[in-house]
Amino acid sequence: MLPSPRGTAGAAVTVCSRRADRRPDERVRALGRAAAVVFTHGHWDHVMGHAALPEAPVYVSRVLATSIARGDPRAAKYLDDARSFDSRWYVPRPSGYRWPDALRGLAEAERADVAGLALRSLELPGHSPDGLGLVADDTLLVGDYLSPCEIPFIDDARAYRGTLARLIELLPGVRRVIPGHGPRLTADEALAVARADLDYVDRLLAARDLAAAHAVPMPRAADVTGMIDHHRDNGATVLRQTG
Ligand SMILES: [Zn+2]
Repeated sequence: MLPSPRGTAGAAVTVCSRRADRRPDERVRALGRAAAVVFTHGHWDHVMGHAALPEAPVYVSRVLATSIARGDPRAAKYLDDARSFDSRWYVPRPSGYRWPDALRGLAEAERADVAGLALRSLELPGHSPDGLGLVADDTLLVGDYLSPCEIPFIDDARAYRGTLARLIELLPGVRRVIPGHGPRLTADEALAVARADLDYVDRLLAARDLAAAHAVPMPRAADVTGMIDHHRDNGATVLRQTG
């Protein structure tokens, strides 16, 4: 949640929410209204909440906007993944499974003034092809990169590596980082996560077989249920791309 600093009293920009089945959270109501919604990428757990804020324009990466407009299978799968999760865990979602009616796609390095908040966009592929980062004043929002409580979830290893290298260059210029999962980080804390993740991805890229990939140490969260499965998925994904 980014409070709007000027010009639009009682507004906020809300980034990535899944909770369409509930009312907008306390902070939106405390600030008055949501002036905009931003999806940092298309994964279902970052997009489904838009239905709770129907008046707010929704900003996404240009890549995701194009994918949705074309009806790409990847965009359809994101919604299918939400259906599957809800079915498994008995989650009601009366608003259904759909994309917002109108999306505003942001291209690399595009600048947008959203409710008085000056945003600069970054295309961040690797976790998904449609990743969107935002620089807002001294704050960097990174979606599903730099989580202090997860390992990288890799879709495209070389793109992921490139995004991490880019974030490492950017971090000295900001004061705080908001990842999609986990608490806010100082720039130094985020830098430590980024360097550990870059080492992890590089080791996976150097692995010659599945046994070597599985032997790569996880950068964190090894005791979190299911994380070892993501680590193994990463190994298989990277080997398909390097083999
Ligand atoms: Zn994700």
